[in-house]
Amino acid sequence: MMDALTVTGRTDRHVIPLEPGHRLQPEAAAAFGQLQHAAALAGFSLRPANSFRDFERQMGIWNGKFHGQRPLLDRQSRPLDALTLATGARCEAILHWSALPGASRHHWGTDLDIYDPDLLPPGARLQLTPEEYLPGGYFAPLTRWLDRHLGDYSFFRPYACYRGGVAVEPWHISYRPLADRAAQALNPVVLLQAWRGQEVAGSARSWRISSGAILTISIRSRSMGWLADYWWVVLLVLAGMLIGGVKALRRVDATSYLKNRPELPPHRDNNAQWDEEDDWPKKP
Ligand SMILES: [Zn+2]
Repeated sequence: MMDALTVTGRTDRHVIPLEPGHRLQPEAAAAFGQLQHAAALAGFSLRPANSFRDFERQMGIWNGKFHGQRPLLDRQSRPLDALTLATGARCEAILHWSALPGASRHHWGTDLDIYDPDLLPPGARLQLTPEEYLPGGYFAPLTRWLDRHLGDYSFFRPYACYRGGVAVEPWHISYRPLADRAAQALNPVVLLQAWRGQEVAGSARSWRISSGAILTISIRSRSMGWLADYWWVVLLVLAGMLIGGVKALRRVDATSYLKNRPELPPHRDNNAQWDEEDDWPKKP
């Protein structure tokens, strides 16, 4: 199901309509429906802003930013002039807010960007910036509600904190059971394969080699980033297991075992059952 075409958004056979203009995988769509229902009971009108997006569209966003045809923002959400940046720096700047074509979680049909149109002030346009969603922003109550209830419906925020690479995206939620599988299927080989014969701006051979790190960071921060952040938890758990094992071994005390060992039943050799006669064949 999660093959190379699916995880790089080069097919849409894995998604079904969610509502006009939005598509998700059937299982993720059902889970989102339940999340929407619960949100409605809490007084929120939870709506998708972005959902499934194919490779072509992601490439349009990427190339548009690269060639200065779409707005490009710096880390503080201030406009940048893409054309003044060298190729590597330009790609890095785009990567802060946008994924490489083929490496967007929106290809998977498991991820969506959400908002509440009723919380949007009259005349305001949805921008998908952290300021709208974090404390003090008009979507802050929705963010707080989602903090408590996303997990109940198997959703999580893959970009909840800044990991060096992709900006914080409190609006981006992901249906974990399917997204984890997609993340496992995505790797640089699959991605480069998806780029073959495509016009991905900045992906010329020279950039690909010199900035291989950007590619790796982009993928890692979007799928395996948790390991970079939580390696110490894994280490702690392993150390805990080791200490527990040593303690258990120490509790084994040979002397007290021998002192308290259970008595064995008397040995029976069943000699009484043998007849007296010697059945052994006699030598001729
Ligand atoms: Zn998103």
